Amino acid sequence: SCGEAAELLSPHNVRGLLDSVDAFLFDCDGVIWKGDTLIDGVSQTLDLLRSKGKKLVFVTNNSTKSRRQYSKKFHSLGILVSEDEIFSSSFAAAMYLKVSNFPQDKKVYVIGGEGILEELQLAGYTGLGGPEDGKKLVDLQANSLFEHDKTVGAVVVGLDPYINYYKLQYGTLCIRENPQCLFIATNRDAVGHMTSSQEWPGAGCMVAAVCGSTEKQPIVVGKPSTFMMDFLLQKFNISVSKMCMVGDRLDTDILFGKNAGCKTLLVLSGCTSLSTLQDSSNKIQPDYYAEKVSDLLQLSGL
Ligand code: PLP
Ligand code: CA
Repeated sequence: SCGEAAELLSPHNVRGLLDSVDAFLFDCDGVIWKGDTLIDGVSQTLDLLRSKGKKLVFVTNNSTKSRRQYSKKFHSLGILVSEDEIFSSSFAAAMYLKVSNFPQDKKVYVIGGEGILEELQLAGYTGLGGPEDGKKLVDLQANSLFEHDKTVGAVVVGLDPYINYYKLQYGTLCIRENPQCLFIATNRDAVGHMTSSQEWPGAGCMVAAVCGSTEKQPIVVGKPSTFMMDFLLQKFNISVSKMCMVGDRLDTDILFGKNAGCKTLLVLSGCTSLSTLQDSSNKIQPDYYAEKVSDLLQLSGL
């Protein structure tokens, strides 16, 4: 049940947690880094977990990068993480198409970044749109006709700093004129750390724009949807009872872990404060909470 209050991670319960978990799933922003700044003690903590033989998986809702680009970002921050340890919502969108046998001869229109286009291409799909379409203008003369590719069978919407009216019209026509067209959202986060010091509008507002014009609801592949969890469970063959999801957001990360039956650890280094966690209106309680990921290392004394 969600009723039981979260336990503060302490020297008394940390060993029990470490011993009972084989795989740690880490959310990225607010847990590993804030924007482009690594959070204190992360590197040493991941080293400790690896030395104990724990499997590490990184699950991010930020669709702007591909797994390859995230692996580069980790390396630039001094942490070795391979592409197959990373589950980004950009990759999830491509895998959703794969799993649903989306035909290779249909195209995918993207309102979003390079990361989505790269993952689509790696999965064998032809993506249209993306940052390129950020420069295109609409012609609102009377009788002008907006042309779109009729072979588009899916529209993927993620965070797009170059969103414009052209893209909205393109995606809207694909969905409204073809009832079979899939409408996929990478995630619905309200805000994200586009820079280290500030939050900016997240993919949720781009997704909401397309919901507004199409009068349809998307298939969401990022957290808290179960799609990514089901996919990674299959890929790694780990049992949920031996997994712990570590995140900074109650209604995405912690819910994602709880829905699957994982243990959950909320860290207060991101977007959730202790008062939000303990507010009587909050119905989502993690098993444990801690200031930051490195408490796993500090408190265990290992
Ligand atoms: N979406 C965008 C655009 C972001 O910038 C962020 C965080 O920076 C997120 C989503 C959330 O990412 P995560 O799931 O790693 O917390
Ligand atoms: Ca986060």
